[in-house]
Amino acid sequence: LANRAFHPEDSCIDVSGVKVGRGHLALIAGPCSVESTEQVLEIAQAVKASGANMLRGGAFKPRTSPYAFQGMGVDGLKILSEVKAETGLPIVSELMSPEYLDLFNEKVDLIQIGARNMQNFDLLKHLGDINRPILLKRGLNATYEEWVMSAEYIMASGNENVILCERGIRTFESYTRNTLDLQCIPVMKKLTHLPVIIDPSHAGGKWWLVEPMAKASIAAGADGLMIEVHNDPSNALCDGAQSLKPDKYDELLKNIVEIAHVI
Ligand code: PEP
Ligand code: MN
Repeated sequence: LANRAFHPEDSCIDVSGVKVGRGHLALIAGPCSVESTEQVLEIAQAVKASGANMLRGGAFKPRTSPYAFQGMGVDGLKILSEVKAETGLPIVSELMSPEYLDLFNEKVDLIQIGARNMQNFDLLKHLGDINRPILLKRGLNATYEEWVMSAEYIMASGNENVILCERGIRTFESYTRNTLDLQCIPVMKKLTHLPVIIDPSHAGGKWWLVEPMAKASIAAGADGLMIEVHNDPSNALCDGAQSLKPDKYDELLKNIVEIAHVI
């Protein structure tokens, strides 16, 4: 179902009225984690003014350490709904368990499956029970073929609204958090007809790597960007080091729009 050979035309996915693919860019921005209503609202208003068309925010967080902040859970989703009501921005948030599928179906416009769950096949199969678009992040050590097959699991279970997201892969390099694989854009577009977006925040793990990698991604044909933005990165509960301040995000989007016009 994902195979380009049977679908020569690029897919265009509709996320609550925002089109992604076929020339339409997903410009997703927001904090790594929902921390409070004030925090999410302030960031959402800023990124919306800059031109973002969706708001991200993690309510359930897949943290390496069980002692790290695990997210606000259901309360975090409530905050996202309030901010959506204020700003109109569709919500992107990560689902980690089928237990919350119905709640996410109700409150989240684009359901993220995180890198660590890319091959959680039971979770993938449950996504066929709903019609919400899915943002499928690439696993930390997943090959292109494995990533395609995970998309295929979701599509074969009955939900064909899949957007792919590269977020950096594990390599020998430890200076950066991960290594951004830009080659995945032309490769995944050759193998599949699905939109491909890039998350330069988790790829590099450093805020100053975000702008150059975001520009390169758009130049290489990406269908959008997911970028972590925080109003107070040094006090963020998660991923402050890779988060842009709203003014930097504003500058970045101006450049992105220019590059998108040229290519
Ligand atoms: C995220 O986007 O907040 C996240 C946890 O990403 P990943 O699954 O790519 O690590
Ligand atoms: Mn994060």
